Amino acid sequence: MSTATVTTIMDLCEELWPASYAESWDTVGLAVGDPAAPVRRLLLALDPVDSVVAEAVDGGYDMLVTHHPLLLRGITSVNAGTLKGGAVHALIRAGVAQFNAHTNADSARGGVTDVLAEVLGLTGTTPLAPTAEAPAGVGIGRVGDLSGPQTVESLARRLAAVLDATVTGVRIAGDPDAEVTRVAVLGGAGDSMFDAVRGSGAGVYITSDLRHHPATEARDTANRTDGTPHLIDISHWAAEALWLDRAADQLATAAESAGHEIDIAVSRIRTDPWTVRIDQPLDSHSGPAPAGPVFTDPSAPTED
Ligand SMILES: [Zn+2]
Repeated sequence: MSTATVTTIMDLCEELWPASYAESWDTVGLAVGDPAAPVRRLLLALDPVDSVVAEAVDGGYDMLVTHHPLLLRGITSVNAGTLKGGAVHALIRAGVAQFNAHTNADSARGGVTDVLAEVLGLTGTTPLAPTAEAPAGVGIGRVGDLSGPQTVESLARRLAAVLDATVTGVRIAGDPDAEVTRVAVLGGAGDSMFDAVRGSGAGVYITSDLRHHPATEARDTANRTDGTPHLIDISHWAAEALWLDRAADQLATAAESAGHEIDIAVSRIRTDPWTVRIDQPLDSHSGPAPAGPVFTDPSAPTED
């Protein structure tokens, strides 16, 4: 067993989540660090926010590998008095390298989206938007089939059970009682993918960060006969945090077979920004009732 370097980790990550799979607008790879520096202890996390940077620094880690980028857009200063500059200074001062695998990890086989598709029991999955010049199966989102028809609500309840609890919870747009077999899923912000979802024949689309206008337009353009695709909105953080343990296992296995001993930990800091939800009685809503049964009774029994 030999000591790994930042370069070693970058090479292992490239095998798992090739940078060429990343979307053109994305930033992936090494943001901070000396490629030649040794890495004995590595921290894996979803977001390189201040609390996670502090965990890496205070915990004596040599490298922080995240899903979301620290520096997505170009910067012209690393002034320590700014948010990003402060993080860069803290990392360099403590000798912590920072690397990320974002849409390349979303798109890779066995990556973020596949982990989410697996917990739903989807089979025969293919990408919603295949990545150009990548092997088959690589791309953004997945569409696949359940073993049999399930109601949209039972699927939403399954998600509520397997995902970490969040204040935003799990929401349905459309008919909770509709039965679906074909499911489209995208772990991150997915409201730019409706054309691909409609083209996939999915009965339901599970994604995060659905905004008002894309969601209402998607309902207005849903299939007139069966209302598909119905929508299930899940927490961006919870949907992607599901992947961290898998990524840690994959990285540990790859490091070991390359002859390196690395202590890999997964951050348990919740980086979901939402902290409180104020529940409102539904009869407080003014105006006409929604066309479909949008709200469901959270105390209703599960169907499966
Ligand atoms: Zn994300």
